[in-house]
Amino acid sequence: MEDCVFCKIASGKIPAAKVYEDSNVMAFLDIMPANKGHCLIVPKKHYETLLEVPDEDLSLLIKTAKKVAKALSLSVGNGAFNLVMNNGKEAGQLVSHAHLHVIPRFKSDRLRLKWSHQKYMENEMKEFQEKIKKFL
Ligand code: AMP
Ligand code: ZN
Repeated sequence: MEDCVFCKIASGKIPAAKVYEDSNVMAFLDIMPANKGHCLIVPKKHYETLLEVPDEDLSLLIKTAKKVAKALSLSVGNGAFNLVMNNGKEAGQLVSHAHLHVIPRFKSDRLRLKWSHQKYMENEMKEFQEKIKKFL
Protein backbone atom coordinates (compact mmCIF):
# COMPACT_ATOMS: atom_id res chain seq x y z
CA MET A 1 0.00 0.00 0.00
CA GLU A 2 2.69 2.45 -1.09
CA ASP A 3 0.36 5.37 -1.76
CA CYS A 4 -1.71 5.07 1.41
CA VAL A 5 -1.22 8.03 3.74
CA PHE A 6 -2.17 6.07 6.86
CA CYS A 7 0.21 3.23 5.94
CA LYS A 8 2.92 5.89 5.62
CA ILE A 9 2.07 7.17 9.10
CA ALA A 10 2.08 3.57 10.43
CA SER A 11 5.56 2.94 9.02
CA GLY A 12 6.90 6.30 10.20
CA LYS A 13 7.47 7.65 6.67
CA ILE A 14 5.35 10.70 7.42
CA PRO A 15 4.65 12.30 10.80
CA ALA A 16 1.36 12.54 12.68
CA ALA A 17 0.33 14.06 16.00
CA LYS A 18 -0.09 10.68 17.69
CA VAL A 19 -1.89 10.52 21.01
CA TYR A 20 -1.78 6.71 21.40
CA GLU A 21 -0.04 3.79 19.80
CA ASP A 22 0.38 0.06 20.43
CA SER A 23 1.46 -2.79 18.16
CA ASN A 24 -1.89 -2.96 16.32
CA VAL A 25 -3.57 0.43 16.54
CA MET A 26 -2.62 4.11 16.43
CA ALA A 27 -4.62 7.25 17.24
CA PHE A 28 -3.65 10.70 16.03
CA LEU A 29 -5.15 14.14 15.50
CA ASP A 30 -7.03 14.64 12.24
CA ILE A 31 -5.10 17.23 10.27
CA MET A 32 -8.36 19.01 9.23
CA PRO A 33 -10.51 18.58 12.32
CA ALA A 34 -14.28 18.91 12.46
CA ASN A 35 -13.65 20.22 15.97
CA LYS A 36 -10.28 20.71 17.67
CA GLY A 37 -9.21 17.45 19.30
CA HIS A 38 -10.82 15.33 16.52
CA CYS A 39 -8.90 12.03 16.54
CA LEU A 40 -8.57 9.18 14.07
CA ILE A 41 -8.30 5.60 15.30
CA VAL A 42 -6.46 3.54 12.71
CA PRO A 43 -5.36 -0.10 12.46
CA LYS A 44 -1.67 -0.31 11.57
CA LYS A 45 -2.45 -2.93 8.92
CA HIS A 46 -4.11 -1.78 5.73
CA TYR A 47 -7.79 -2.69 5.43
CA GLU A 48 -10.02 -0.68 3.16
CA THR A 49 -13.37 -0.66 4.98
CA LEU A 50 -15.03 -2.10 8.07
CA LEU A 51 -15.98 -5.21 6.11
CA GLU A 52 -12.32 -6.14 5.64
CA VAL A 53 -11.20 -5.59 9.22
CA PRO A 54 -10.91 -8.96 11.05
CA ASP A 55 -13.01 -9.17 14.21
CA GLU A 56 -9.94 -9.30 16.49
CA ASP A 57 -8.58 -6.05 15.04
CA LEU A 58 -12.02 -4.53 15.15
CA SER A 59 -12.36 -5.14 18.84
CA LEU A 60 -8.94 -3.52 19.42
CA LEU A 61 -10.03 -0.58 17.28
CA ILE A 62 -13.28 0.07 19.13
CA LYS A 63 -11.58 -0.35 22.52
CA THR A 64 -9.01 2.25 21.49
CA ALA A 65 -11.79 4.57 20.31
CA LYS A 66 -13.36 4.28 23.76
CA LYS A 67 -10.02 5.03 25.47
CA VAL A 68 -9.42 8.06 23.28
CA ALA A 69 -13.00 9.29 23.71
CA LYS A 70 -12.52 9.09 27.48
CA ALA A 71 -9.21 10.99 27.28
CA LEU A 72 -10.81 13.63 25.06
CA SER A 73 -13.68 14.01 27.51
CA LEU A 74 -11.24 14.55 30.36
CA SER A 75 -9.02 16.98 28.45
CA VAL A 76 -10.38 19.16 25.66
CA GLY A 77 -13.99 17.92 25.72
CA ASN A 78 -16.88 17.53 28.11
CA GLY A 79 -18.15 13.97 27.57
CA ALA A 80 -20.01 14.56 24.30
CA PHE A 81 -18.55 13.10 21.13
CA ASN A 82 -19.49 11.50 17.83
CA LEU A 83 -17.99 8.20 16.74
CA VAL A 84 -18.06 8.12 12.95
CA MET A 85 -16.85 5.70 10.31
CA ASN A 86 -17.12 6.42 6.59
CA ASN A 87 -17.06 3.30 4.45
CA GLY A 88 -16.76 3.72 0.68
CA LYS A 89 -16.57 6.75 -1.57
CA GLU A 90 -20.34 7.37 -1.57
CA ALA A 91 -20.24 7.45 2.23
CA GLY A 92 -17.56 10.13 2.17
CA GLN A 93 -14.48 7.95 2.74
CA LEU A 94 -11.52 9.94 1.44
CA VAL A 95 -8.69 7.80 2.80
CA SER A 96 -9.12 4.16 1.75
CA HIS A 97 -7.60 2.78 4.94
CA ALA A 98 -10.27 1.91 7.51
CA HIS A 99 -10.46 4.33 10.43
CA LEU A 100 -12.81 5.63 13.10
CA HIS A 101 -13.32 9.32 13.82
CA VAL A 102 -13.78 10.45 17.42
CA ILE A 103 -15.06 14.02 17.31
CA PRO A 104 -15.52 15.98 20.54
CA ARG A 105 -18.75 18.00 20.58
CA PHE A 106 -19.47 21.34 22.19
CA LYS A 107 -22.68 23.16 22.92
CA SER A 108 -22.00 25.99 20.54
CA ASP A 109 -20.23 24.11 17.75
CA ARG A 110 -21.63 24.37 14.25
CA LEU A 111 -20.94 20.80 13.24
CA ARG A 112 -23.90 19.12 11.56
CA LEU A 113 -23.93 15.34 11.35
CA LYS A 114 -27.71 15.04 11.20
CA TRP A 115 -29.39 13.77 8.07
CA SER A 116 -32.79 14.43 6.53
CA HIS A 117 -35.31 11.63 6.96
CA GLN A 118 -37.01 9.58 4.24
CA LYS A 119 -40.25 7.63 4.46
CA TYR A 120 -41.07 4.03 3.52
CA MET A 121 -44.02 3.38 1.23
CA GLU A 122 -46.61 0.83 2.30
CA ASN A 123 -45.05 -2.67 2.76
CA GLU A 124 -41.64 -1.32 1.78
CA MET A 125 -40.27 -1.53 5.30
CA LYS A 126 -41.20 -5.22 5.45
CA GLU A 127 -39.50 -5.79 2.07
CA PHE A 128 -36.29 -4.17 3.27
CA GLN A 129 -36.47 -6.13 6.51
CA GLU A 130 -36.80 -9.43 4.63
CA LYS A 131 -34.05 -8.60 2.10
CA ILE A 132 -31.57 -7.80 4.84
CA LYS A 133 -32.52 -10.68 7.11
CA LYS A 134 -31.72 -13.23 4.38
CA PHE A 135 -28.03 -12.44 4.77
CA LEU A 136 -27.94 -12.51 8.54
P1 AMP B 1 -12.54 9.97 5.72
O1 AMP B 1 -13.33 10.97 4.93
O2 AMP B 1 -13.39 9.23 6.71
O3 AMP B 1 -11.73 9.05 4.83
O4 AMP B 1 -11.54 10.82 6.58
C1 AMP B 1 -10.19 10.97 6.30
C2 AMP B 1 -9.64 11.98 7.28
O5 AMP B 1 -8.23 11.87 7.27
C3 AMP B 1 -9.98 13.43 6.94
O6 AMP B 1 -10.74 14.00 8.01
C4 AMP B 1 -8.61 14.09 6.80
O7 AMP B 1 -8.57 15.38 7.36
C5 AMP B 1 -7.69 13.14 7.54
N1 AMP B 1 -6.31 13.11 7.08
C6 AMP B 1 -5.86 12.99 5.82
N2 AMP B 1 -4.52 12.99 5.80
C7 AMP B 1 -4.11 13.11 7.08
C8 AMP B 1 -2.82 13.19 7.72
N3 AMP B 1 -1.69 13.13 7.03
N4 AMP B 1 -2.79 13.32 9.06
C9 AMP B 1 -3.94 13.39 9.78
N5 AMP B 1 -5.15 13.32 9.24
C10 AMP B 1 -5.25 13.19 7.91
ZN1 ZN C 1 -3.12 1.93 4.31
